[in-house]
Amino acid sequence: MAPPDYDIVIVGAGMVGASMALRLADTNLRIALVAPSMAEGATAALKESGEAFDPRVVALTAASRRLFSQLGIWPGLEQRRVCPYRNMHVWDGEGAGKIDFRADELGCDALGHIVENRLIVGELMDKLAQTPIERITAQVKGLIYSESGLGGVALSDGRPLHARLTIAADGATSALRDFAGIGVREWSYGQSAIVTTVSTEQSHGHTAWQRFMATGPLAFLPLCERPEEPNPCNSSIVWSADESLAAQLMALDDAAFARRLASGFEHRLGAVTQVAKRYCLPLVQRHAKTYFKPGLSLIGDAAHSIHPLAGQGVNLGLLDVQALAQEIVRAKNRGISLDDASILRRYERERMGHNLTMMAAMESFKRLFGSRDLRLLWLRNCALRSADSLSVLKNTLAREAMGLSLS
Ligand SMILES: Cc1cc2nc3c(=O)[nH]c(=O)nc-3n(C[C@H](O)[C@H](O)[C@H](O)COP(=O)(O)OP(=O)(O)OC[C@H]3O[C@@H](n4cnc5c(N)ncnc54)[C@H](O)[C@@H]3O)c2cc1C
Repeated sequence: MAPPDYDIVIVGAGMVGASMALRLADTNLRIALVAPSMAEGATAALKESGEAFDPRVVALTAASRRLFSQLGIWPGLEQRRVCPYRNMHVWDGEGAGKIDFRADELGCDALGHIVENRLIVGELMDKLAQTPIERITAQVKGLIYSESGLGGVALSDGRPLHARLTIAADGATSALRDFAGIGVREWSYGQSAIVTTVSTEQSHGHTAWQRFMATGPLAFLPLCERPEEPNPCNSSIVWSADESLAAQLMALDDAAFARRLASGFEHRLGAVTQVAKRYCLPLVQRHAKTYFKPGLSLIGDAAHSIHPLAGQGVNLGLLDVQALAQEIVRAKNRGISLDDASILRRYERERMGHNLTMMAAMESFKRLFGSRDLRLLWLRNCALRSADSLSVLKNTLAREAMGLSLS
């Protein structure tokens, strides 16, 4: 039988799929990366936007930063635009509970970095252009099967791409997951997230802020043109709100929205002086019942999507990338064929438990802070105050959130 066209086809060129491709670029495996559109490089991404900040940003943990350094894209990101945050302030909008994290108390220079999605994908594309990985601009419309099982994907123009292993990184509504008949446990949070860039009267002080309200959390994530900008006043906001409130907020004009936002944020950074275009995204939690079928593996949002309240979504996806890449390299070194299910079983064993734990923690947070029950209000304020005063517990929480517990 003729060998397949590729050892691996990766479907989806978002942050997770593109990272997966780059992580495997030096393995000498024949790899194709497929997506309906391929982002241009980072320079084009900035030019196209007139240098405005991307409304979609992520808070990257130390573990994700380490992966990006390994992939060689961190220096480029740092040179263009990343904003380190050195403090995190989280408080209960309905009570007096609060918790503060400080990088200097943990002996590190930053708790994490806020980076625009578009720049990350742009840097990954620039690097991928220097590798032998084939980039194919096309939509996948089905899976193809051979006598031995799943054997690649069919493109929308009818072209088949035969591969020993297909990696689905095609996002939260993954078509490949559906094609393979992999079920999901899914529930809507009944909330939408409003995201945009705002300017405030006062500097954000390199702090990531989050106020919990019964209607959903409001986060201000610091942005800066340069890491050491003297008085940075731009923030990316993620306002997760019950659907009816989100619709009301979206209907306001910019000036009225700015006033509501400043008051929702208790004027911690003074007035909101400017608001860019707002986007509203429905929030749905999904978790695939399995991360693989023989010949197909799910990674990133295709395997799990999670409430943005703790900024963990893509960080979990990048941990999937590391785990699956390690299993692929291990198999290759041992001469194990990439369609051997044991590779994917080991990957699933490593990642599913951790992803589920993080998702369960986020769900508990959301429910705890979404309740107006006075007993729960008392309990969560006591819990926040205790966690804030117990340095061992606080350090453990911080290390988990920074992705350091896995190093
Ligand atoms: C409001 C909000 C705030 C967030 N904040 C954070 C944060 O602070 N920190 C964090 O870690 N995460 C955060 N997240 C989560 C993070 O954005 C996602 O986890 C991440 O974008 C998922 O990346 P991905 O590459 O898996 O999927 P996607 O970015 O969705 O990429 C999917 C890719 O698949 C391609 N594709 C789709 N269908 C097909 C097909 N049929 N054929 C071929 N290609 C296809 C698409 O074109 C795209 O290239 C946030 C999410 C939201 C909504």
